[in-house]
Amino acid sequence: MKQIVVISGKGGTGKTILTASFAVLANNKIMVDCDVDAADLHLLLHPHIRERHEFRSGKTARLDKKICNRCGKCIVLCRFGAISDDLTIDPISCEGCGLCSHVCPSGAITMEENIAGEWFISDTKYGPFIHAKLGIAEENSGKLVAKIRQVSKDMAEKGRFDYVIVDGPPGIGCPVIASLSGVDCALVVTEPTLSGLHDARRVIEVCAYFKVPVKMVINKYDLNIDISKEIEAYSQSANIEVAGKIRFDSSIPKTLVKGITAVEGASEAVIREIKDIWKKISI
Ligand code: SF4
Ligand code: SF4
Repeated sequence: MKQIVVISGKGGTGKTILTASFAVLANNKIMVDCDVDAADLHLLLHPHIRERHEFRSGKTARLDKKICNRCGKCIVLCRFGAISDDLTIDPISCEGCGLCSHVCPSGAITMEENIAGEWFISDTKYGPFIHAKLGIAEENSGKLVAKIRQVSKDMAEKGRFDYVIVDGPPGIGCPVIASLSGVDCALVVTEPTLSGLHDARRVIEVCAYFKVPVKMVINKYDLNIDISKEIEAYSQSANIEVAGKIRFDSSIPKTLVKGITAVEGASEAVIREIKDIWKKISI
């Protein structure tokens, strides 16, 4: 079983368009959307949710006014100002540190787990799909990514799947690190701009730190041939294979509008380029 994660130094590079196309091209695979802060792979894979699970993370203080003796200790000691003078806890301000529950002499404060989001196991016409939704203003997306990565790995091993294909989060933060754990290949998608190259370099450094093998794709390479050549030169110097280049083509946004993958509706030339990339990363 091979685990492939598609990532990018920043959002909007075409990472999800490519991942969705792999859903069509790969046989016997599980698709995973680890971009939990801005999940959108479902818009192209059209899942039917089979299982829905709560994601619990972090804690919030709850105060039982019936038990409270109104000593005011918790109000004074909460450094986040989360407890008002009338002993109401503001769940947004509460950082879940637990100090108030420790100092309360009457045991009136308990710490309760937050429901920070949901994760799903779904069916699609391309096979199983594991995805998640983080609650509004919730943190710990790295923990949620780690959870769905583990679920997909277990499911792939049990069901003898050949591939786990992951749409990773953009950037270099905690969710990206969680999405890289144990993968066989990170496919870094970049665009031919100086900031694109800079961001790609940063995420490649993260991959190198965790010893994850990297391949690159230059999306819309023909928008700036000079910078595309610069990216290729950088890849060569860093010993990174460019698995392929995808042209700028107006047929791609049209597939997005229709809610279909690029390999199901883009121009022949684009489809050929994406198929070549899949051939290079699937072996
Ligand atoms: S858990 Fe911490 S942040 Fe939340 S109310 Fe208690 S002391 Fe304040
Ligand atoms: S520390 Fe406990 S008893 Fe004192 S005011 Fe706060 S909740 Fe009430």
